[in-house]
Order: sequence, then C-alpha cells, then structure tokens
Amino acid sequence: MSDATPTMSRLIKALQGLPGIGARTAERLAFYLMNAPEAEAAELSAAITEMRSRLTECSICFNRGDADPCALCSDPARDRTVLCVVETSRDVARIEETGLFRGLYHVLKGHLAPLDGIGPEQLTLEALTRRTKEQGIKEVILATNPTLESDATALEVVERLRPLGVRLTRLARGLPMGGTLEFVNRGVLTDALQGRQELK
Ligand SMILES: [Zn+2]
Repeated sequence: MSDATPTMSRLIKALQGLPGIGARTAERLAFYLMNAPEAEAAELSAAITEMRSRLTECSICFNRGDADPCALCSDPARDRTVLCVVETSRDVARIEETGLFRGLYHVLKGHLAPLDGIGPEQLTLEALTRRTKEQGIKEVILATNPTLESDATALEVVERLRPLGVRLTRLARGLPMGGTLEFVNRGVLTDALQGRQELK
C-alpha cells in the first residue's frame, strides 16, 4: 500500500479495522471501490451513514435496530408469553433466520466477565426479571453461547427467574462448546431450538 494516496490509505486503514478483514483484503476492497461505479460506492457509504444515524436501542428488549420499540416487540403476531434470552442483537438475527421462534427476545448486552469488570449490573438482568414478572411470561428460553462465561451468565439468569415459577429451558447441547451462536449454521441452531431442554 506504499503507492496508495492519503485518501486511499485512510480507507484501507478503516476497512482493516473491520472483523475478518486483513491487510490484503482491505487493500483489495479499497481498490475495488476506487474502480466501482460511482453509485455503488455512494450506496455503501449512504447505507453505513443511514444505519448509524437511525440506530437505536429497544427500551423493551434492548435489541439494537431502527426503532424503539423494535420491529419484533411491535409485531402483534409474536407470542408475548415466551422470551428468548440472547447476548447480542446479532444472536437475535441468527435465531430469526431459523424462522422457528415466534416469541419475543431479551438481549442481555453481553455476558458476565468479572475480569473485564462486567458484572450483573452491566447486563440487562434487572429488566429481564421485571419483564418476566410483570408481562405474564410463561417460558424463558436461554440461548446464551456455549462457553464457560456464558454458562455462568445463564446460571445467574436461572437463579433470578426460578423464584418466579416460569418454565425455564435452554438450547440443546448440539452446539459446539466454546463456540458462539454467531458462527453456528442455521440447521444446528434450528435443532438446538427445537430440542431445547428443561432446566431442572
Ligand atoms: Zn424490542
């Protein structure tokens, strides 16, 4: 990238900051955009700008999207008695892709990570407990990632919700341990949701 102009270098550097994009790919994308039709480059730029300017967080489920309440919470066709607890908005999107779940979500906004200073107060656990208690929730499905920290987070959720007498289930353990929902293929996620297990 030694022969790149300052504006190109800036773009390459920005692209390189994206997950999964190394130096070579960043350079290839930047040169592609340099030679692409004006409209194509403008659309990419406008899509990023508009997505960011409209980005908000749902005050009910904490999903990040275009509106508050989000499209899912506002959808009258969704089953309001079942909550699926996930760590991120990305997980909401993954589960929606399966087309299998018709309830509502609750985004924890991460998982417990004591070493990084993330305790129960940094997550949306209080709101989850309140929602479950006040909104007539009958089942809470734990769809946290199959990792040690996420398991500890799920346990914390179970301890808080158990006294409320709701049905507590979690995704079946077909999910690879140590992985994240983000990278699980749709079939595996569908099986995990269908085969969800009661938490005793
Ligand atoms: Zn919502």
